[in-house]
Amino acid sequence: MSPADLVMASDLQVAAGKVVSVNPATGEVLRELECANDGEVQAAVTRACAAQRAWAEIGVQKRIAVLREFQRLLHGKKSQIAEAITREAGKPVAEALITEVLVVLDAARFLIDNAHRLLRDEPLPHGNLATRLKRGRLLREPYGVVGIISPWNYPFSIPATETLAALVAGNAVALKPSEFTSLVALELRSLLHAAGVPQDVFQVVIGDGVTGAALIHSKIGKLVFTGSVATGKRIAVAAAERLLPVVLELGGKDPMLVLDDANVEVASSAAVWGSFVNAGQACLSVERCYVNSSLYENFLRSCAEKTKKLRVGPGLDSETEVGPMIHERQLRIVEAHVEDAVARGARVLTGGSRLKELGDNFYSPTVLADVTHEMRIMREETFGPVLPVMAFDSDDEAVQLANDSEYGLAASVWTRDGARGERLARRIQAGTVMVDDVVSCFGISEAPHGGVKSSGVGRAHGRFGLEEMVRLKYVDVDLMPGMKKVWWYGYGMNFLQQMQGFLDMQFARDLATRLRGARKAIGVVGRKQL
Ligand code: NAD
Repeated sequence: MSPADLVMASDLQVAAGKVVSVNPATGEVLRELECANDGEVQAAVTRACAAQRAWAEIGVQKRIAVLREFQRLLHGKKSQIAEAITREAGKPVAEALITEVLVVLDAARFLIDNAHRLLRDEPLPHGNLATRLKRGRLLREPYGVVGIISPWNYPFSIPATETLAALVAGNAVALKPSEFTSLVALELRSLLHAAGVPQDVFQVVIGDGVTGAALIHSKIGKLVFTGSVATGKRIAVAAAERLLPVVLELGGKDPMLVLDDANVEVASSAAVWGSFVNAGQACLSVERCYVNSSLYENFLRSCAEKTKKLRVGPGLDSETEVGPMIHERQLRIVEAHVEDAVARGARVLTGGSRLKELGDNFYSPTVLADVTHEMRIMREETFGPVLPVMAFDSDDEAVQLANDSEYGLAASVWTRDGARGERLARRIQAGTVMVDDVVSCFGISEAPHGGVKSSGVGRAHGRFGLEEMVRLKYVDVDLMPGMKKVWWYGYGMNFLQQMQGFLDMQFARDLATRLRGARKAIGVVGRKQL
């Protein structure tokens, strides 16, 4: 961390309190930071509003050049950033590199290659005869300042991907990172400023939910929130009061469906990685696993064997595969879900308890068999290293179980038959369905990320994530400015008959166009021409 970061972070102080950054593997206090109070948040956003105009005016090509520099700097500092993530969020450094640094490098690549094309003005031809003498154009304009509120579980990739899209579209950004991972956000700030983003165009406001609430009431033009369903709902209510547009990327309870023709060896490895990556603290974690009864016992055996071999420990140790959880509150949720499942008849095949010998925040990767939908572990987001497995008898039953949830973030289907997987994918209520893979959709920069039902509103990443960062403006230019329009005043019987005639003409034209299209489709026109 540079001295400039220290100064700027302490600039945010006042009496509202402090956030303490802790290494979850050791309990070591990394740093205390003052929270930004309401006045400081408003002042930061006011500065951002003023700076945004010039940032928008430099044009998209110059902003892309800044992103290119950011990408170069991030690549050069990849190991340092990965280690900073591990120190504050706990995950193994290799995971920080793949699921955070690489994701951001690739998101930058996508925007560098595509932002110019996706943001440019678009002509909008008119079909209605009455409006043919007009020229329409769609403009994509920045919102001004985009507020980003982010969680601790992917403290770099989530705010960075959203920030890059907002910035390249010409917005300024005020980021309120999770109170558990402020230092990673300050690393992001250092990189962006070093790359050429002006100080006021990207600002970090440190703090907890109080600071986040202040950001919602500031002059931001849009809010992109990632976090729990409970907080997301509170934010939606607060945003509704001032009709602030929001993207809500919320929790998940992602199902994995293992069909009767699946490769058990591959699918069980996927289940183990998909449940325990980031110690199960991923919005896209496999939180529910449904397996065809013909494979059930084999699949369970394979999962349990692989889980027992996982190396749990501090993320900074290069041998570690599963790191600590973030904090005590999250561990208690996991314990409560496992206890409830066991009390209702679930079998613990491996794990099921804390690993106190490693430290306060370690929980043993756990495989549960014979779970049911009456158990909390299959209904509420667990967000910890638990793989609950349940049998089904038919594909219809698997789809019904997958959809029996308040959540709808992502899902996966496992089969040797891709077409069968795609057919089932269409029936599953989720923002993303992967056939024969889990979790990695977050790293596909072109793919939209977001949920349905309680998992959220709006999309991040790719073309649709970029579209969230701009307002559409429609500009219409009349090509006959000296001519009065025929539909203006002068109503009467004559006018009425003329309008009826016009409607008939338009309708007949539409019909003829459709007929021509249909004839072309069945080849009539083609044959006649021959
Ligand atoms: P959280 O909801 O507790 O906090 C998220 C952020 O909101 C934090 O920065 C927090 O300080 C802030 N906040 C809290 N109360 C607020 C308020 N009243 N007003 C404004 N801001 C407020 O979530 P968390 O524990 O940090 O993250 C874990 C959750 O995030 C899980 O549910 C997980 O599934 C979800 N998540 C979703 C995605 C996704 O893309 N859908 C990605 C990662 C995490």
